[in-house]
Amino acid sequence: MIQLYIPLNFLGVIYREIKQSLTDLDKMFVLMEKEREVRDAPGAQPLSLLPLPPGEGRGEGGGVDSTIRFEDVSFAYEPDRPILKHVSFEIPAGKTVAVVGPSGSGKSTLARLLYRFYDVQQGRITIGGQDIREVQQSSVRRAIGIVPQDTVLFNDTVEYNIAYGRPGATREEVEGAARAARIHDFIAATPRGYETTVGERGLKLSGGEKQRVAIARTLLKNPPIVIFDEATSALDSANERAIQSELRSAAQDKTTLVIAHRLSTVVDAHEILVLEAGVIVERGTHAELLAKQGRYAQMWALQKSEATPLM
Ligand code: ADP
Ligand code: MG
Repeated sequence: MIQLYIPLNFLGVIYREIKQSLTDLDKMFVLMEKEREVRDAPGAQPLSLLPLPPGEGRGEGGGVDSTIRFEDVSFAYEPDRPILKHVSFEIPAGKTVAVVGPSGSGKSTLARLLYRFYDVQQGRITIGGQDIREVQQSSVRRAIGIVPQDTVLFNDTVEYNIAYGRPGATREEVEGAARAARIHDFIAATPRGYETTVGERGLKLSGGEKQRVAIARTLLKNPPIVIFDEATSALDSANERAIQSELRSAAQDKTTLVIAHRLSTVVDAHEILVLEAGVIVERGTHAELLAKQGRYAQMWALQKSEATPLM
């Protein structure tokens, strides 16, 4: 009997180890599954973003035509449950389009489709006039910086996690991005600084800290297109206000899709889309939508009455 105790105890250790690796495997399969959802067409070429005609779009010069178009896009994760229905909009190069709407309306799905985690079942999405299904998926992702709702960090150093946006970046560049995303002081205060391991098996970061890492990664990547998916939802209002200007500068001159749950972040957008159950029910600028006195105006009034410090 006594002999059994040791193996059992030992098994406990092994069990924990196995469970951990299963968790990792699980994640890997999730990632692989995502990869498997889309395949490059044989002979697919990289996305090629052509320079904008002079005087058009981005102010900083050297701007490329990263105009995004959703053309009559319908999409379902499961065959009998349509999520997006006939969604059409355009984000001209260098402009911002914001999407607002209740939870579950399909906002994040728009971001996932643009990043090509899935291919659309009807209609098409183009970047610079090219159907993203017809170009190399990796090239689409290189052109896009995404700050997702829930950032998953690699079990690796902070430096690796930020530099992932631009492999080969110097420590100075990583630190610059971290400063801009206002996460540098936090990192510097950890015992190993940028060498600190984060993620599930390292230092656990709060939702807001993870978002800042993702923002730093995007700033460093400096892509022509950025997606913010409720990019500041995990931050409290003081922090959110603090990072607002950094988000704005990260979006400066970029073709930007903002999924916002605080309307204050969308006021300046070129166009605001109100999405409900996968349908665009209202669209226009902030002023136009207020004048319409519809869903958006209602949401606006509601947020104002909640008296968030941002309004
Ligand atoms: P939002 O970002 O507006 O809250 P989402 O785009 O995340 O909404 O989700 C829209 C709908 O799609 C929800 O009903 C959600 O449950 C469903 N959904 C999201 N991801 C998946 C998935 N991987 N498989 C099946 N259904 C999903
Ligand atoms: Mg969402």
